[in-house]
Order: sequence, then C-alpha cells, then structure tokens
Amino acid sequence: MLRFSRFRGNGHRFHRESEGIRQNVERIVILSSIFDTAFEALSSSCLETQVFLFGKVKGSTLLATDALVPKDDDYEIRNYGCVKVWNDFVMKKFPRMEKQGKTLVATIHSHCLDTLSDGDIQTHFNVIQFYPYQLSGIFNHNRIRFFKFDRGLKEVPYKLLDLERFDRQILIFGEEGQLMISISTVALIGCGGGNTKIAFDLASLGIGKLILIDPDVWEESNRNRALIPLDHVDMPKVESVKQIIERHYPDVKVDAYKARVEDIAEDILSEADILVIGPDRFLTREYCNKLALKMNKKAVFVGAGIKTEEGKVKDMGGS
Ligand SMILES: [Zn+2]
Repeated sequence: MLRFSRFRGNGHRFHRESEGIRQNVERIVILSSIFDTAFEALSSSCLETQVFLFGKVKGSTLLATDALVPKDDDYEIRNYGCVKVWNDFVMKKFPRMEKQGKTLVATIHSHCLDTLSDGDIQTHFNVIQFYPYQLSGIFNHNRIRFFKFDRGLKEVPYKLLDLERFDRQILIFGEEGQLMISISTVALIGCGGGNTKIAFDLASLGIGKLILIDPDVWEESNRNRALIPLDHVDMPKVESVKQIIERHYPDVKVDAYKARVEDIAEDILSEADILVIGPDRFLTREYCNKLALKMNKKAVFVGAGIKTEEGKVKDMGGS
C-alpha cells in the first residue's frame, strides 16, 4: 500500500538504511507548463499541498511531462504541518499515467524546512520501493528543490523545458520526439569544420547535452570551414564551441575536454546516446569504431571521406 503522508516514525532508522541506497538520477527536466501548474498549486494555499510529477526515465535523466494536482476532497489529511491524499486517489490516478507509459518521477509538498524532515525521508524510503526513480521535492520560500538518496540525501538539479522555440520542428518530430531530443546527449569526437556545424545545429535543435572532445586550438587555416569569431583563433576548439553555444543556447549543457579521444576515460562517454566521429586520422577513426563497439554505442562517421591503401590514407574528399 502506497502512502504519501508525512507520518511520524523513527526517522533515524531510515537515515541509516538509506545510507546504502543510490538512486541513479543526475537531473530532472520539467516542461515549463507543468512546472507552472505545480508552482501555482503549491503557492496558492497555506495548507500543506502535494503535487505528483509523472514522466519518463532516460538513463539518469528524469523528464516530467504531467502533473497530478489533488483537489480539496482528494486529501485525507491536510493541515499546516501534515498532508496525505486518499489511497483512492493513488489507486485511480496513478494507473492511468502508467497506462500511458509514464511513471512517478517526483512528489512535491509544501514544507517549512530547508531539507526533508525525518518523516519525509521515511516516506521517500517507502515510495522508492515502488517507484525507484521518484525524487522528493519540497516547496518553501517560493522555490522548489528535489532530493534523492545517494549515500545519504542529495539535492538533484532541475531544468525547465520550454517547447515554444521548437514549434516548427515539433511538426516533424512530434512533442514526444522533441522531448527525447531535449534529454539526449551527443558526444562529438573532434571539433573540426564538420563537427562544429553539427554541434551548432544540435544546439539549435535543443539537444540536452553535448560532450566535446578535441586536443587542438583554432588556426587561421580552419576559418575556411568553421564559422568562429576572429578572436577565437589560438583558443582550444572545444572551449570556443562551448562558449559560442552557451552564449546563444544557455539551456544546452556542454562538457568540453581538450584532449585526444584516446586519453579520455570511458565513463565520460557513458551517458552519450550517440558518438559523432569527426577526425580524419584513420587510426583515430579505427580507435573510435572499436570504442563504440566495446561500449555498445551508436556511432556516426562524418568529415572527409577517406580512402586507404595498405593502412595509409590515399584519398580524401566528400563529406
Ligand atoms: Zn516535509
């Protein structure tokens, strides 16, 4: 039986038991409209209020696409310090979401402390037996914060997602497709002429995160194929591309590594959904191919077409 109340109990026992639990969640992405709905409900009453966020899980990212807001008579208990919805509410509303392939990703309640109370921790412990990805959210001082178990209690950052910018491409990908783009990660290995264009295109499409890997700095002779500011010459390519994207599309997260891919730890690439391999160097491409196979990642090879003979590059051209 699910309970979402903040019933009192021996919180210290749950503190101890929760020490060993790790919820594999790095961030929660929330549709702006859903966040507004939740915020409005939580801020409109001085009685404790609960909001349930439903959505999808992709790797270590949660995506909140729906908010369940209980009505006044959905509450079994509701006063200034305690809140609980009727089990009927849970039994009726939750399966409807689950039928649409959505799961409980967070429960938010209004709360007067800066972190979860012992009762909240106990409830969180109970709920994640059923919904392992659920975060416990608290609303106070007009802000919302999310917590998970990760060798104790840790805060989880959230990001709001406004679909307005993607109006045109939603006609092609659908809203669901756009949401998937928004929580996807692409690793660009090499930041030359080709991959830089791909990086900018992905940023404008609303990709969630880019991982950039390249050991080089921009040279004057690169400027025939990469549109970069004049004062970025001599700057590491990955830093330059990161700066440009962060300036124009601050909602895109960019991790930049000025290094050869051979020197990058594999776990840096582990969250990538796809690897885009840019370098022309045959050995680097071969290394990336092996890496993609080993990590079971999709890989796309772009850049100059390469012909080899006896292990040496014979011809280059195309794209
Ligand atoms: Zn609380």
